[in-house]
Amino acid sequence: AACLARIDAHDGVLNSFISVSAERALAQADAADARRRAGAAGPLTGLPLAHKDIFCTRGVKTSCGSKMLDNFVAPYDAAVVERCDAAGLVMLGKTNMDEFAMGSSNESSYYGPVKNPWDLAAVPGGSSGGSAAAVAARLVPVATGTDTGGSIRQPAAMCGITGIKPTYGRVSRYGMIAYASSLDQGGVLAHSAEDCALLLGVMAGFDVRDSTCAEAPVPDYTATLNDSLAGLRIGLPREYFGAGLDADVARAVEAAIDEYRRLGAEVVELSLPNAELAIPAYYVIAPSEASSNLARYDGVRFGHRCAEPRDLLDLYTRSRAEGFGTEVQRRILVGTYALSAGYYDAYYLKAQQIRRLIRDEFLQAFTQCDLIAGPTAPSVAFDLGEKADDPVALYLADIYTVAVNLAGLPALSLPCGFKGQRPIGLQLIGPAFAEGRLLNAAHAYQ
Ligand code: GLN
Repeated sequence: AACLARIDAHDGVLNSFISVSAERALAQADAADARRRAGAAGPLTGLPLAHKDIFCTRGVKTSCGSKMLDNFVAPYDAAVVERCDAAGLVMLGKTNMDEFAMGSSNESSYYGPVKNPWDLAAVPGGSSGGSAAAVAARLVPVATGTDTGGSIRQPAAMCGITGIKPTYGRVSRYGMIAYASSLDQGGVLAHSAEDCALLLGVMAGFDVRDSTCAEAPVPDYTATLNDSLAGLRIGLPREYFGAGLDADVARAVEAAIDEYRRLGAEVVELSLPNAELAIPAYYVIAPSEASSNLARYDGVRFGHRCAEPRDLLDLYTRSRAEGFGTEVQRRILVGTYALSAGYYDAYYLKAQQIRRLIRDEFLQAFTQCDLIAGPTAPSVAFDLGEKADDPVALYLADIYTVAVNLAGLPALSLPCGFKGQRPIGLQLIGPAFAEGRLLNAAHAYQ
């Protein structure tokens, strides 16, 4: 009830929620209470959370930030939602996001932009901007998000909170609306690595309904939070500290690295020479997968349907033209182009080859270090509207995050300072399934 009251008081300005499901929440809270009295409560029973509006929730609208799904109520729950429900967490509602998770500023949402609680003139980052702002403003203690190219880490950095994108396959994608299926991964936005560890432990694990979900057992991420960092080798890729990085962000990240030295870590210099290819490869692969995934929104079975279609083609064309915003249409066009006969080899296949090079480069780097550190984003949160007319400038906001998704690795962003009122994020990247090590390192700093 206290969280719902805070949402009532502050979300008119922040716009971090698309739906607030107060009745469902209070019923869940009562059930959690009963469970506690019966001695059957787990550590998170009764804890409020919010889900990004990309996770299907039975009985509560799932819009994915799009007019296309403004009328969509899923007939089933996403695996992540089921697992949180089973642990007794209380869902307060669904958070705002860039349309179909395509964006880095939350400005492509059909429901309007989210404001950054630290500075209302700034974007919160994206695409999980609603989750990041809701947690930062303490409307809810933890929230879920998804990260295809940075959408958990970048808004976490811009809102001054901690966010973890797990290894690809660690968290089930069942019921998580697809953007680019080979890159999409669910994760957590919270106030600390400890909170991330608790919620990730609930969300992670094998699910037979997602064919790419990993069978590896889920460790107790809280058990290793206090491990010593003595001897931990932290790699600093030269390419993450070059031109384009804001000087204040660089200083804050370097100061954080010094703190790791004091905690006993050993810092090694690295090179990831193909880092600069990550953005171009990502912006071929992600739109290609999106153009295929978004073909299902045809106005026939669910979602927006245009009024009085003349024939089937008119139904498809107008439903999609009306239902999708500009950025989503741009991605569908780019992806369809890159996959078409004659261009496939030149663009899509090439991008896949680069993807493998990037992954191999990370694997090679992890023979020299245990974790990689660097900035999460090249700058602090920018002003609302500042990059709205320049898609490429916006794509560059992901320059340090997208390679991790191409390689399928886990990574985390934690706060490491401010530029004026706006927070700065430190990114830690680990080898596959090293979530425990990332959370341990972040916890030691915090
Ligand atoms: N900003 C990137 C994009 O627009 C990443 C988004 C995401 O991770 N969902 O594709």
